Amino acid sequence: MEIVDSIEALRIARAGLRGTVGVIPTMGALHGGHRSLVDEARAEHDSIIVTIFINPMQFAPGEDLAAYPRDLPGDLKLLEAAGVDLVFTPTPDLMYPPGYQTYVEVETITEGLEGSHRPGHFRGVATVVSKLFHLTMPDTAYFGQKDAQQVAVIRRMVDDLNFPLNIAIVPTIREADGLAMSSRNTYLTPEQRAAAPVLYQALQAAGTAYASGERQPAILQTIMRQTLAHEPQAVIDYVSIDDAQTLHPVNQPTDKPILLSMAVKIGHTRLIDNGLLPLALNTRTGLEQMLGNPAV
Ligand code: AMP
Repeated sequence: MEIVDSIEALRIARAGLRGTVGVIPTMGALHGGHRSLVDEARAEHDSIIVTIFINPMQFAPGEDLAAYPRDLPGDLKLLEAAGVDLVFTPTPDLMYPPGYQTYVEVETITEGLEGSHRPGHFRGVATVVSKLFHLTMPDTAYFGQKDAQQVAVIRRMVDDLNFPLNIAIVPTIREADGLAMSSRNTYLTPEQRAAAPVLYQALQAAGTAYASGERQPAILQTIMRQTLAHEPQAVIDYVSIDDAQTLHPVNQPTDKPILLSMAVKIGHTRLIDNGLLPLALNTRTGLEQMLGNPAV
């Protein structure tokens, strides 16, 4: 496994990779969710690139940029064991040198959900991911369902800007008690960690109601909110029911696939989770047909 931290070294190493290339952009502090993306890519491509970069541009002032978990030795061990060929670990200065002034803005699909709670977040994501696509020139880039709006935004951008690559969407990997794996879970105290599965429980409660025929978005949303309210440490940022393809809010009962999503604070840690209904759509094929599908 080769590790590079300059543009020149990356270009040389990229040129030396054989066959098709899968890329997995990450912010490091890797866990089983990242591993799942790498494994899918490994099964489908001759060569695998992982990028590790905590992108300052996607953090708003007051967010957790400085505290964001870092574990490069642990990350490299995981990636080596997973059979990765090339790791790119740029610094912020390398990605955004003095004088930098070019940005990528995706419009409507960034407006709701995370976009409305994290100003500038998707501008930072779209900009860095564009740069990483140009630098790594993958055949396929792998993203997690865990950040459902992110992958919808990136699909839109790839389609709008004619990037010559495919986007694969990998289902959310969870801990045994349902908590979605996340680098930010390391912030949780034991007591907060015990409370955190309530996000998954909220998804499950709405899923159960849906399976018994409930289609009223307001009721599904109430069920999620009530479940979260049972956990005194959970403070809701938002709970939302949206069209699974457009991510527009759904107000009327519908049989079209929907995305349930939420952001919830437990202590200072902001956790997000989501799920598609019907439940059978939470597979790679289902997700790829739905989230931000450019055909829509
Ligand atoms: P991050 O390092 O948090 O920016 O995540 C890098 C990639 O891993 C993104 O595409 C995430 O959606 C994905 N990811 C993060 N957590 C999970 C998870 N629990 N299951 C699947 N994918 C995940």
